[in-house]
Amino acid sequence: MAIDDLRKLVKRAGKTGDFIIQHVDRCVGCGNCVKICPVGAWQLYQKKAVIAKDYREKCVECGSCWLSCDADAIEFRYPDGGTGVVWEYG
Ligand code: SF4
Ligand code: SF4
Repeated sequence: MAIDDLRKLVKRAGKTGDFIIQHVDRCVGCGNCVKICPVGAWQLYQKKAVIAKDYREKCVECGSCWLSCDADAIEFRYPDGGTGVVWEYG
């Protein structure tokens, strides 16, 4: 499924604030988060992962980046109640 098609499956509510925090000092540049993120929110830059500045508008809150990071360099929590993505289908 293309990224744009995936994004069409959700609507977004409210302002989430930051719900993903990256600890750059712990990142070992393995690229797991880059490979697994279904919406391409992560990139490798100079052997460190960087999350997109607009990740709040891209992220579908799957938590895969957090689960895939063996270096414990990513913190993920669901946005506060009433904010974030709402799956419309599926
Ligand atoms: S999965 Fe973790 S260690 Fe690997 S590139 Fe991403 S943030 Fe860095
Ligand atoms: S939670 Fe899922 S969609 Fe959001 S940045 Fe992580 S891997 Fe990508």
